[in-house]
Amino acid sequence: MTFQVFQKSLSLNPTPIVRRFVSAVLLILVALTAAAETTVPAVSLRQLGDGRDIQMRSAQNFDVEFLPGDDGWVSSTVSLADAARRVVSRAAQDAFQMRIRIVMAPDKDSFLKLVGPWAENSSAVAIPSARTVVVNLEAVRTPAGGELGQVLAHEFSHLYVGVRCPRPLPRWLDEGIAMQLARQGGIEDASALVWGKWLGRLIPLKELERQFPVQADRQRLAYRQSNAVTRFVIEQDFDGSLTKLLARLGSETEGARTAEFYWTPVNRQALQNRWISTIGSFSEVAMLTLSSGFFWGTVGILTVVAWVAVRRRRRQLHSEWDKEERIYAALDEEEEKVWGASEAEEQPDEEPWKHRDRN
Ligand SMILES: [Zn+2]
Repeated sequence: MTFQVFQKSLSLNPTPIVRRFVSAVLLILVALTAAAETTVPAVSLRQLGDGRDIQMRSAQNFDVEFLPGDDGWVSSTVSLADAARRVVSRAAQDAFQMRIRIVMAPDKDSFLKLVGPWAENSSAVAIPSARTVVVNLEAVRTPAGGELGQVLAHEFSHLYVGVRCPRPLPRWLDEGIAMQLARQGGIEDASALVWGKWLGRLIPLKELERQFPVQADRQRLAYRQSNAVTRFVIEQDFDGSLTKLLARLGSETEGARTAEFYWTPVNRQALQNRWISTIGSFSEVAMLTLSSGFFWGTVGILTVVAWVAVRRRRRQLHSEWDKEERIYAALDEEEEKVWGASEAEEQPDEEPWKHRDRN
């Protein structure tokens, strides 16, 4: 009852003091809610719920969460993360000073429990909304998992794009930018794409807009394509400058429109056609052949082909020689029958004049 009266008086004739009080309370509530949203981490080792003692160390604007057995990783992770942050800042020409949380998952099982089974082949995952990177320590310990500094640069690129771009990007572009920024990919990627085109196995960009294939080799191809298409975009439309692409995507006035451009089916299709037409051109294949991995592969194949050819030729010659031997043997036999065996022929023919003397 009293509440109703209060509400009525508030709505009908609120005094300036009451109005200010209510707005202040509302403002505080909004601020608290916003703060709660940004400070509560989306992912934490606490979610593993196995009662292990979770540790946290903060340095250089990074908060690293880890389990006691992994404390040896922390200081190197912080210095690699700092270097990775500088890589992003340099590429984007933008101080990238936001606080970043790094969660060190001790093994693959706990990593998948935290981020989801889709990340089965990943070394790390970025969650831009929570400004968090979750690292799969089991993968990073193996050479196949990639170098941790490079992995962090890749993930920080996702954080940067997620925070700065006013509109989410198609996945292939987001991944391509991260790979370009972390300088990932090599000559074997280019040759895989040439083979992919020749065998008709490339994945349409449309299928790489929201998610990547889970199957390991298709997923690898998806990353390779994303990297190559993004490089093509940078070369063709941004004067070869990743910085220009990032600046456009992060721009308040043009960012959303630029992202929209790559989502638009007709633009995506045109881009895909233009890109595919450049794969496997004479200059690219020549470049691949002269480059290390592919070059030695080609040399290896040519060596085997040459060896087989030489072997066949030798066999042919041997069979010819055998035939000749048999003919000569038959002729000798004939000769012996007619003339009888000659002793002189068995002697070395070093000094023919002596033979003559003796005869
Ligand atoms: Zn990525």
